[in-house]
Amino acid sequence: MLTKFENATIIDGSGSAGFKGGVLVEDERIVAVVPATGEIPAPNPDTVIDCTGLTMMPGMTEAHCHISFNDLSSMYQAVEIQPEDHSLIALANAQMLLERGFTSLFSAASAKPRVDVAVRDAINRGLFAGPRMRAAGQEISPSGNLGDLDTNYFAFPRNVRFTVTCDGADEFTKAARLAARDGVDTIKVNVSGDRDWGHMHADDTVTVIAERELAAVMEVANARRLMVATHCTSSSGVKMCVRQGVHVIYHAPHADEEARDMLEEARDRVFVAPAAGLPISMLRRHKEFGLNWSPEKIASMESEVETVTACMRDLHRRGVRVLPGGDYGAFITNPIGENAKDLKLFVDLFGFSPMEAIVAATRQGAELMRMETTTGQVKPGYYADLLLLDGDPVEDITLLQDPERIVAVLKGGRFAKRAQRLGGAIPRRKAA
Ligand SMILES: [Zn+2]
Repeated sequence: MLTKFENATIIDGSGSAGFKGGVLVEDERIVAVVPATGEIPAPNPDTVIDCTGLTMMPGMTEAHCHISFNDLSSMYQAVEIQPEDHSLIALANAQMLLERGFTSLFSAASAKPRVDVAVRDAINRGLFAGPRMRAAGQEISPSGNLGDLDTNYFAFPRNVRFTVTCDGADEFTKAARLAARDGVDTIKVNVSGDRDWGHMHADDTVTVIAERELAAVMEVANARRLMVATHCTSSSGVKMCVRQGVHVIYHAPHADEEARDMLEEARDRVFVAPAAGLPISMLRRHKEFGLNWSPEKIASMESEVETVTACMRDLHRRGVRVLPGGDYGAFITNPIGENAKDLKLFVDLFGFSPMEAIVAATRQGAELMRMETTTGQVKPGYYADLLLLDGDPVEDITLLQDPERIVAVLKGGRFAKRAQRLGGAIPRRKAA
């Protein structure tokens, strides 16, 4: 099956400026990328698609994705959903994100042990259309920290909640091994506290686990070639993560000069994803969702946004790979599906040019997925994971947020979305 795309503006994901040209896709791969002056080597294509006025770019990667967090207003809501329903909700979210331009999802934790894994496997087996996924399990976290919903009077079973509580290296080892048994690609560990957990003495400046506990997880992960991603807001936590060889550090707002030096030194092996969508939406949209927050709470959100902004500007300047993906779905102010807002935040707040934000979401996103030799660029030999946009995202990065202007999405050469003007909608269930 040969499909010829003609007259597009091509942003190839490498960081080079867009150019006019055509692309030839054979089955699941790109076989030729030709500037407008050249001839696409396809005398008899099966389909020719005229892309005049459209921009073609690589599909994006969501670097901090939670397909099983369904716009929560309380963490208990994630517990209440039955596992069977939860898998279907997560699948629907994964498909929706694909149609919104995210051809790859890097999970930052699943609300139950195998929800991500089940969705990933069903997609990979061809039961359903869906994005490429790296699946995570639950967050592994010590007692008295983010996500610990137990009290002295009751404890939820391990398999219904989004954190597994562990104390001591042996328990971290066991939880990591169980996550590996479940089939995850990424093990998630909560290294620090977070906003709203100060009542447990675990606010966002506190490192809540011991280095031997993180080392225990790394030992399990490294032996199995799994990745480790951490929730880590504190400065000493960031240093611990870099020392231990953590692959992805989430948030990192309080990283001090020494921690930033360490990140810069390790920039070829570590990724940082600030997950800025969540705190920024909490600050900007809380009233819209009827949240009556105190002036103290709002002041603390303002200061959080300032802190993360200053840190990410500096890390970007230092050449650290800072990636978009913003905890969409984890709280009602930040609905899942609006994930491409992160690129706009990178431009408005973190000092990225629109092209740099696109590269972070595409070429560098593919590096995060460990698929940089096959995805993330419009390049011969690469999978045809492609977007067709009505307009130029370098001129207006917000068009990536507008489903109406995402004219087509292809994953591996198959249309996941095809607007009427290109020949109509695609059924969500794969044809037999
Ligand atoms: Zn998250």
